[in-house]
Amino acid sequence: MNILITMSNIGDKIASIKGQLPEQVRLVAVSKTKPIEDIQEAYDSGHRIFGENKALELRDKALVLPDNIHWHFIGHLQRNKVKFIAPFVKLIHAVDSLRLLKEIDKQAKANDRIISCLLQFHIASEEAKFGLNIAEASELLSSDEYKEMKNIKITGVMGMASNTFDTDLVRAEFKHLLNIFQSLRYKFFLDNIFYREISMGMSNDYQIAVQEGSTLVRIGSSIFGARNYKK
Ligand SMILES: *Cc1c(COP(=O)(O)O)cnc(C)c1O
Repeated sequence: MNILITMSNIGDKIASIKGQLPEQVRLVAVSKTKPIEDIQEAYDSGHRIFGENKALELRDKALVLPDNIHWHFIGHLQRNKVKFIAPFVKLIHAVDSLRLLKEIDKQAKANDRIISCLLQFHIASEEAKFGLNIAEASELLSSDEYKEMKNIKITGVMGMASNTFDTDLVRAEFKHLLNIFQSLRYKFFLDNIFYREISMGMSNDYQIAVQEGSTLVRIGSSIFGARNYKK
């Protein structure tokens, strides 16, 4: 068989990445902007966890794809869009406010579900619009409103490193997220067996993220190829 054809196969790329991941690290195949056929191809190769970052795109894809897919929402989520994904989403990676968490709790309740969420932290040294710092997260987790929520479960943290070739900087940012994860566990989640996820690492930096303790890597372009946003 022609090696180039083999290497362009989505299933082979997933298998090759999974082959490099330690057992406790799960792969989220980031399929945003990619067509149904690509996701189906990955699914047919045995993969089940997919990540999307637009609520309506996720809803539309979920409608036509097998219902045993574990859909993760990985991007910034607007409160008025939570209702579109609440009936089925498995994990929301990027919760960055109490108001968003309240809306997720409300929509989860309306669907008689408990939705797992990660708190997103701003770890990159470059400017970023989204993400908490540890003081903000502590305030959220100490609030009465949070304690009253019955339909969400915080299962860990998420962050994105700087988009740079400086691997020392990227490593330091991932170490910072691991520190945040551990200090929140000590303060808020000591007897909580569900609090265990560190979502960090993308196509360009997942090897470093895994070395620094990632449990969920979110990989798109290394599986599905470069994205074309123009369409
Ligand atoms: C797009 C995206 C990814 C995947 O990025 P790649 O560089 O294509 O692997 C991971 N995480 C988030 C939050 C994203 O938006």
